[in-house]
Amino acid sequence: MEQEAAISSRITIKGTISLLMSIIENDQKRVISLGMGDPSAYSCFRTTVQAEQAVTSALQSGKLNGYAPTAGLVMTRKAIADYLARDLPYDLTADDVYITSGCTQAIDVALTMLARPGANILLPRPGFPIYELTASFRNLEIRHYDLLPDRNWEADLGAIQSLADHNTVGVAIINPGNPCGNVYSYQHLKNIAETAKKLCIPVIADEVYGHLAFGGTPFVPMGVFGSMVPVLTLGSLSKRWIVPGWRLGWFVTTDPCGTFKQPKVVERIMKYCDTLGGPPTFLQAAVPQIIEQTDEAFYTQTLEQLEHSADILYRMTNEIPALHCPYKPQGAMAVMVKLNLSVLEDIRDDIDFCFKLAKEENVIVVPGVAVGLKNWLRFVFSVDPPSLQEALGRIKLFSHRHSKIVHHQY
Ligand SMILES: *Cc1c(COP(=O)(O)O)cnc(C)c1O
Repeated sequence: MEQEAAISSRITIKGTISLLMSIIENDQKRVISLGMGDPSAYSCFRTTVQAEQAVTSALQSGKLNGYAPTAGLVMTRKAIADYLARDLPYDLTADDVYITSGCTQAIDVALTMLARPGANILLPRPGFPIYELTASFRNLEIRHYDLLPDRNWEADLGAIQSLADHNTVGVAIINPGNPCGNVYSYQHLKNIAETAKKLCIPVIADEVYGHLAFGGTPFVPMGVFGSMVPVLTLGSLSKRWIVPGWRLGWFVTTDPCGTFKQPKVVERIMKYCDTLGGPPTFLQAAVPQIIEQTDEAFYTQTLEQLEHSADILYRMTNEIPALHCPYKPQGAMAVMVKLNLSVLEDIRDDIDFCFKLAKEENVIVVPGVAVGLKNWLRFVFSVDPPSLQEALGRIKLFSHRHSKIVHHQY
């Protein structure tokens, strides 16, 4: 019963967005959503022809209609191992990689493998609510450590240390960050690794936005510190290749010391993968080609588009007195914007702001509480620039209409 209460009290992003959608009544204005991070909705964000052809020819070969082995096709596991090892000081093998149905399922594998009676896990706040939801299903106690807005959303390492006890089974980080759009430096990641080492816990590194860092900020994978502390790296094709509907992800033991390579542990992960089934065989088979044939130009173009949208968002939100975006996003697809309630007249909180905004302007924005931060807002910028500008224009009008000082400005 306790578990049921924990699950039904969890807020999800998808649930919040459908609630906001359901109250839209004005059909004169088109609905613009800065809610869900799915750029594939915009034609300017399209995966490569090569990726689409790799999947098509795998499907049409007629040889990939059967089951894949547990944990995935060996060629797929090997391709992911090689792809990730490019940025690591050691090699990975196919055995380190388990193919999952998107990064969502990789989160499930990680949390399920770490769960045991009485265990707790350290999660970032603000964060990605799928972690809280999965932890609740696994009866894992959640302990939140804060990301610090005045330190560009670095993890509060002191909090990590004081929250952990002998029942703590891991600490999760998301880098590049969702929902904050920040990218951690080599030094900060090293500090996290040292903290986790001291606490004898593995790091769960959600790198679903791996390499989606721009503006000169380098992406450093947590696995670089795998010799210091075991790292479970989670990722997928969804974001970098803009194919979230393909449901192709990975759970990887970036752990050269072999903590997660003990036969009993491997057997447990394998058996759990047996219960999951994994993504379609033909999609798995396309992965080596997708990775090999993706032009550098595609990656560069995606980054330029994201950076351009991030710039628009940063500039336009900071022109609105009710909003404040403390940092220009450096990566990923979302950013947190602080709501300045003191300049607004009849807006109670972030939820009220988002509901009134949906109703009056047909613009969807996720309230901060949905990701753990009250009276902030989460804006997704993986949107085409005209839609983004129009949405922000409407938010500006909306804020003005609800502003205390509106009459003095004329
Ligand atoms: C999108 C996202 C996921 C889920 O990725 P899928 O591959 O679509 O399942 C996981 N973690 C974070 C932080 C995300 O933003």
